[in-house]
Amino acid sequence: MLIIGPPGSGKGTQAERISERLGVVAISTGDIFRAQVKGGTPLGLEARKYMDAGDFVPDSVTNEMVRSRLSEDDVENGFLLDGYPRTAGQVDYLDEVLAQGGQQLDVVLQLTADDDELVTRLLGRAKDTGRSDDNEAVIRHRLDLYHEQTEAVVAKYAERGTLTRVDGIGGIDEVTDRVLVAIDTAPVAGGR
Ligand code: AMP
Repeated sequence: MLIIGPPGSGKGTQAERISERLGVVAISTGDIFRAQVKGGTPLGLEARKYMDAGDFVPDSVTNEMVRSRLSEDDVENGFLLDGYPRTAGQVDYLDEVLAQGGQQLDVVLQLTADDDELVTRLLGRAKDTGRSDDNEAVIRHRLDLYHEQTEAVVAKYAERGTLTRVDGIGGIDEVTDRVLVAIDTAPVAGGR
């Protein structure tokens, strides 16, 4: 499963909830990068340069990290990728990784919300988390990148008929309910 959404759409929160309900492991590339930054690893030092500016970490680095994560044992019963793929190149790479593993995507969820709501949410979150990429200029840049690059990713899955859109505006429980219904009725998973 994939969960795609602009920064601040609540995809991390919803990913954790789906993971608990369905017993599939949630893998957030943003969380992995933040852990690497915290640990001061070479990957973290490299990623930090991009993250602080709100830029994407280069595909070469991100793809390799995802491949390695998807080779671990805990993904055998399925997985939910949160925040990957975000570029057309990452979609192609993921296609290859899945094909090599004889796997396919059952559900691709897009959480939607408008930019003004997202900026308000993210500025609120900045006060709580102190995330270095939650200031207004960086937030706007991350939203621009979402529109410029990640919407093309969404369009690819829509063309393939695997995309399910969920309105991300509302209370957390309300959105979780919508997400669970969407998963149940998703084109591939629901059609089995
Ligand atoms: P997130 O927590 O998902 O908002 O991710 C935080 C930051 O990590 C992003 O702004 C990027 O700098 C980096 N990142 C996370 N996922 C990706 C990805 N799939 N491709 C490139 N950079 C990523």
